Amino acid sequence: VVSPAPAIALAGLSALLGERCLRDAASCAAYGQDNSRRHAQPLAVLQPATVAEVQQVVRIAAEAGVPLTARGRGTGTTGAAVPIAGGLVLSFERMDRLLAIEPADRYAVVEPGLLNGALQVEAGRHGLFWAPDPTSLPYSTVGGNLACNAGGPRTVKYGASRDNVLGLCFVDGRGELIRTGTRTTKGATGYDLTRLLVGSEGTLGLIVEATVKLLPLPAARAGFLAVYDSIDTATAAIVALMQQPELPAALEFMDDAALALVRARGVDLPVGAALLLVDADGAAATLPFTLQALTQAARVPGLVELRQAATAGDLAALWAARKALSPALRSLAPGKINEDVVVPVSRIPELCRAIAGWRIELGLPIVVFGHAGNGNLHVNLLYDPADTAQRDAARRGLALLFQTVLALGGTLSGEHGIGLDKRDWLPAAVGAPALALMRQLKTVFDPAGILNPGKVLPPI
Ligand SMILES: Cc1cc2nc3c(=O)[nH]c(=O)nc-3n(C[C@H](O)[C@H](O)[C@H](O)COP(=O)(O)OP(=O)(O)OC[C@H]3O[C@@H](n4cnc5c(N)ncnc54)[C@H](O)[C@@H]3O)c2cc1C
Repeated sequence: VVSPAPAIALAGLSALLGERCLRDAASCAAYGQDNSRRHAQPLAVLQPATVAEVQQVVRIAAEAGVPLTARGRGTGTTGAAVPIAGGLVLSFERMDRLLAIEPADRYAVVEPGLLNGALQVEAGRHGLFWAPDPTSLPYSTVGGNLACNAGGPRTVKYGASRDNVLGLCFVDGRGELIRTGTRTTKGATGYDLTRLLVGSEGTLGLIVEATVKLLPLPAARAGFLAVYDSIDTATAAIVALMQQPELPAALEFMDDAALALVRARGVDLPVGAALLLVDADGAAATLPFTLQALTQAARVPGLVELRQAATAGDLAALWAARKALSPALRSLAPGKINEDVVVPVSRIPELCRAIAGWRIELGLPIVVFGHAGNGNLHVNLLYDPADTAQRDAARRGLALLFQTVLALGGTLSGEHGIGLDKRDWLPAAVGAPALALMRQLKTVFDPAGILNPGKVLPPI
């Protein structure tokens, strides 16, 4: 039974959207989850097709006090798109157009539901690309990428979503349409609302249009993998690589557990305690010099083997090792907590040493890999959810991880965001004054508290 205010809202939404207001249990169930495997049943799923419809939906929801959770494609890993407070899910799947592309000014204007992969195809026709490259690129949306500040391997050189957006149009919690930012690559005009919205996970406003920065596609790529005899020596190489002027286009790390896992699946890799995968890109004429600088930096004492990719096929083979990891993890245990913590690059050995201790203390496999150039490591705690002791150990491992990362001067998330899973750690990460300011901002943007309630900020 739906109580009176939501019932009136649902009647208004059905009148507004017709069959794009889905109320059957099966549709609601399908839109009630994300990749966190959490689930909550919404009252209805809305599929607006225009900005005006989004504004109208927000006004109806605000008046009735009904929660509204924005949704791209539900690939988020933190429960951010799960409608835990019930209410409405607003899916942007019908707002997926490329509105404009301006190669001369290097930007594109897109609707939020456009898939990142589709944008790459369109930009590629003009010799351009959008830098954010999450592994979920083929099936996650630009709106979702911006809402989570998604990134990927090439963030080390080109930045994450926040660094590659010029302006936004968003609808706030009152239904007001607000335009932010510029269409230029410079701008010093007032507060930077664009970057405030990025990473706000649908709690401050609904992004209905984005002007994203495009970059020229590099003409050539090359790369190598390097295996080291210890985590410390691999970290020395990471520091050396990041201290010299030639930025790698990707600098990925795997610890010994990750290496063993990939090797066990038949990928031919040298034996060692840690692996770095380094990519370079640029003009064909200058790439050899970049590569030479990078290989030189990677040759620190403790290097076991450096394997260079001579061709595009070789490069793909090197990346096969990295890509084999995620599926391989599933063979170790049915449950996985995959965190994306960040520490200053020089503190990676301390984090890895702590993790080695937790493997013994908790009795759980822990596999570490990730975007080392940014100090952004995916720490995977593997366990059996059906086993109470293992479940408790995994939970304890998570607390140890977050405490340690913060103590090392790092932060909770590099790219997945906070969502539901990490919100209780936000106070420890940002401190009381910043948290209080965030709560005030939330009230300003969303006075009725309807936009994705219960996410990012912990309950008071
Ligand atoms: C296999 C796999 C690999 C992944 N790899 C990476 C990776 O390498 N790097 C990375 O960063 N992430 C990765 N992710 C996580 C996820 O894909 C990203 O967070 C992605 O940005 C989510 O996009 P989405 O469209 O699915 O958004 P959703 O999951 O639907 O939503 C995510 C959040 O954004 C909000 N939101 C969505 N659209 C809007 C909008 N228009 N306005 C306001 N808020 C909105 C939602 O309310 C929610 O809070 C991966 C996920 C999977 C399943």
